[in-house]
Amino acid sequence: MLRRLGQTLAWRTAVALVGACVAGGAAGAGVCPPVDIALQHATGGVWVRPARADALAGWTEPTVVWVDRRTVWIADPGPHRCAGLALRRWLLARWPGRAHRLINTHAHPENVLANSAWPQGTPIYALAGVREQMQRRCPTCLRNLRATLGPQWMAGTRITLPNRLLHPGQSLWLAGARWQVVAHGHAHTEADLSLWQPAGRWWFPAGLVAWHGVPDLGRGDMAGWLAALAGPAARGEPLPGILGGSTPEAGRERWRSTRAYLAALQSHLARASAEGRDLQEVLQWREAVDPAERSAANLARHDRNLQRAWRQVEDAAFDERPASSPGAAGAGP
Ligand SMILES: [Zn+2]
Repeated sequence: MLRRLGQTLAWRTAVALVGACVAGGAAGAGVCPPVDIALQHATGGVWVRPARADALAGWTEPTVVWVDRRTVWIADPGPHRCAGLALRRWLLARWPGRAHRLINTHAHPENVLANSAWPQGTPIYALAGVREQMQRRCPTCLRNLRATLGPQWMAGTRITLPNRLLHPGQSLWLAGARWQVVAHGHAHTEADLSLWQPAGRWWFPAGLVAWHGVPDLGRGDMAGWLAALAGPAARGEPLPGILGGSTPEAGRERWRSTRAYLAALQSHLARASAEGRDLQEVLQWREAVDPAERSAANLARHDRNLQRAWRQVEDAAFDERPASSPGAAGAGP
């Protein structure tokens, strides 16, 4: 009981909104609109800016911060330079004199384009696959985000790629605790990183959890994503604290709902494939979407997911055919 109460207290918002009206800094960068930082204390030296579905600034994905006496680590600093500048200013005011290091978990613009708010040469860590995806996709992502959010939010934002590599299984000491770098193959995107702290059973799944609405399979792989979600969190009891929501339980709830959606999609499509169902009938199925979440945007995303996942199921079935069956991949003499 006491432990639970302690957890609840630890999770209360320690610092309220900071209306940091941040001047652009560099000449020509313009003036940024106010950005709310509102980091919440999670555990030890770990702080979270929870995911927000409706953030005007486009800062919809979670940011996690680890602080010790010398260093502040920041995973997924946000969508643009304005967000990064506001976060930097907040962190410098609260914990002055620390070195800053960034981590990019995956190549989505909402997570990584704030890199450009830190001085050149600031260490930015990522898996090789994430860096490669950023190199390939960031120019288009930057254009798209500028079109969505407008020039004021995106003022001064430029592509800043990671300059340090992380390796699967590597340990990082973050806020005095050992965190393991977990590399996932094709899951939420082509390359995803999560961070796992075995001693305290804390997990930052980053993009592997769909923090709001229907999971987006636009660049994902249904089977790979499900496998990634069964990673550290599903091993043993109790369930870990999942960082990224407003509370550990909110994080677990989103983890559960992401898994449930993808598992329902997978079993629907496997059944339809086995029964040779009509394609139109297969693609009209909407039961996996919670009735409370059936907005036009979520249903449109679900329809795109169905089409993409159906192709993945068909490709997998094609690959699994015995070599002797007609048309099987690699069939030879
Ligand atoms: Zn993402």
